Amino acid sequence: MDIQHAQKGTASVWAGETEPFADGATTPPIVNSVTYAYHDLDEWHAVATGRADGHIYSRNTNPTVRVLEEKIRVLEGAEAATSFSTGMGAISNTLFALLGPGKRVVSLNDTYGGTSRLFLDFLPGYQVNVTLCETTNHEQIEAEVAKGCDLLYLETPTNPTLKIVDIQRLAAAAHRVGAVVVVDNTFATPINQNPLRLGADLVLHSATKFLCGHSDAMGGVLCGKKELVERVFRFREINGASLQAEPAYLIARGMKTLELRIERQNASAMRIARYLNDHPKVETVFFPGLETHPGHAIACAQMTGFGSMMSFSLKAGYDAVKQFLPALRFVHLAASLGSVSTLAGPPRTTSHVELTSEQRAQLGIPEGLIRYSVGIENVDDLIADLEQALAIVPEPADALLTA
Ligand SMILES: *Cc1c(COP(=O)(O)O)cnc(C)c1O
Repeated sequence: MDIQHAQKGTASVWAGETEPFADGATTPPIVNSVTYAYHDLDEWHAVATGRADGHIYSRNTNPTVRVLEEKIRVLEGAEAATSFSTGMGAISNTLFALLGPGKRVVSLNDTYGGTSRLFLDFLPGYQVNVTLCETTNHEQIEAEVAKGCDLLYLETPTNPTLKIVDIQRLAAAAHRVGAVVVVDNTFATPINQNPLRLGADLVLHSATKFLCGHSDAMGGVLCGKKELVERVFRFREINGASLQAEPAYLIARGMKTLELRIERQNASAMRIARYLNDHPKVETVFFPGLETHPGHAIACAQMTGFGSMMSFSLKAGYDAVKQFLPALRFVHLAASLGSVSTLAGPPRTTSHVELTSEQRAQLGIPEGLIRYSVGIENVDDLIADLEQALAIVPEPADALLTA
């Protein structure tokens, strides 16, 4: 069977490694070579001019990196894929390669912090016209796109309140005006959501998160329509934000267990979200799998799983969060997400530290919000851990009395 038609669990393992490597090696070698030698000048010239397959210089392509690119290409059902040194490398290279003076990009208020810095601080300096819309206001986004737009940039679910945007609906609006649709699929992973099948032209990921899955390597990937991926690849070759062989190996290795990890994390997150939602000391739980979440219906239609990112607030407020978080045993209090170990932190000190409390309020981020990235630990242990830490939090009634 062709790998192209394999199920995701099979593709995660086999894509990029269907043939044995040099010396019959069955796992991808970490090729640290910067340069590649040729005996035949005609062959060298053919590879250098793109007429034959091969490698010339590792800033451009590398055999270990290619394995990772092939895995994401097959998992997302894309024509082509390329990679970058970090997720921000993927995002900035894509935006700078496809936009330029006089071009217009439409996006959302709730994009990843680094992405919104590009939109607000850097792209306008290159005469790119940037319009950011209220994230779940589909009518406003459609209206802005209809005014004329070169690139629509989406992210769903968003950070940290897990807002959901309808990819199919907005991609259709973008294509009516000939805009390219790019989706950051980091939170969902290719196991839970495939934006290309919903009409997006390009999908990118911070491979640092779920794809790697072990918080021990950084990378970014981009895949989708061949012509667009090649335009971004040519910019990255020159711009130099290339992924190295060692992190590529770790990410490709992590991806072999992607489906196993994501299925377990999806199931654990659903149980934890319900547990927290029913807890008297918890104020709000943001998780797209809950029927009460405003994006639940769209999530049901466009995702095959709700993921394992959630956030929640405590009735007793931020002072209680300061007691609660350090009392958790099976959680790293740290930035980032998508690892085998559970990670938690307040957006006011992690992803949204640069914003004022008014700006956070505008995005609907309560000051006492806790972002919680569910790992692969035993879910009963995680719930017991939450239970003992919630036990030391003051009763909401006491908090009200002292407020
Ligand atoms: C982390 C993250 C990024 C940036 O990726 P890095 O690998 O840290 O550069 C982009 N988008 C989302 C949604 C992320 O979570």
